[in-house]
Amino acid sequence: MSREGAALPLYLHVISMPTMDKSALGSRMRRTSRPLVVVLFGPPGSGKSTQAILLERALGFVRISPGDILRSHVAAGDALGSEFARIMRTGQLVPDEIINRMITERIAEPDCADGFILDGYPRTHNQCEVLIRVLRQINCDAVVIKLALDTDIAVARLSGRLECKTCGELYHLASRRPKVAGVCDADGSGLTVRIDDRDDAIRTRLSAYEAQTEPALRLLSEFGYDCHVVRSGSALPEVTAGEIAECLRRSTARGTVGP
Ligand code: ADP
Repeated sequence: MSREGAALPLYLHVISMPTMDKSALGSRMRRTSRPLVVVLFGPPGSGKSTQAILLERALGFVRISPGDILRSHVAAGDALGSEFARIMRTGQLVPDEIINRMITERIAEPDCADGFILDGYPRTHNQCEVLIRVLRQINCDAVVIKLALDTDIAVARLSGRLECKTCGELYHLASRRPKVAGVCDADGSGLTVRIDDRDDAIRTRLSAYEAQTEPALRLLSEFGYDCHVVRSGSALPEVTAGEIAECLRRSTARGTVGP
């Protein structure tokens, strides 16, 4: 994405956003000269998407989730979708080449010009290298947030999770049951178990995170991007969101973030 000729990008100094409320946030933000990219890392079950959605609402940035893009192909039942479903069902990662192309094309779209939130990308060393190249090309600030979670809590969160087929709202058989079994409170659609929320796939996803994603995170930090660790074990999502906001505030207070 070329920044040449673009209007001065908005953003970003988040002074405080305890409730992640967009209107309150807006009044506390001032502008800097570069777009901001928030990179959310974390094992499956750490609440990356929940936090990314809260940030999306609070900052007005686009959320880019490779998992959602892959699932939209699966839902569409196209040729790519059946290949993605085959991989995701096992809990393994989709090949870098496919994901890198998908994400770099998405980042080049105009709605990403002022900033965006990466929810589940990068996840490998190669994806980190590609992202670092893109971040340099678009000359933006970037802050990495790693959501840390103990493995046993991650397994408990993912096992028994149910998802609305229509709106994606999440429920849990132990901690957040729908009012009517199998039916979404929000829109009355049926609830389903995600294809990769089965025991063996959960284990494979957690292993992939430990073996490929966690080590790759180091690369971003070595290249000079601020990396914060936020624990996401027992706190309410809004509390975790407040901690993320504080990390963003600290990182952006200097003016520019990253190399
Ligand atoms: P989670 O983080 O809980 O695993 P996601 O929705 O982010 O959930 O990802 C679901 C699946 O989509 C992954 O297990 C993997 O198969 C695929 N996927 C998502 N993001 C990537 C990525 N960056 N690289 C490769 N595969 C990915």
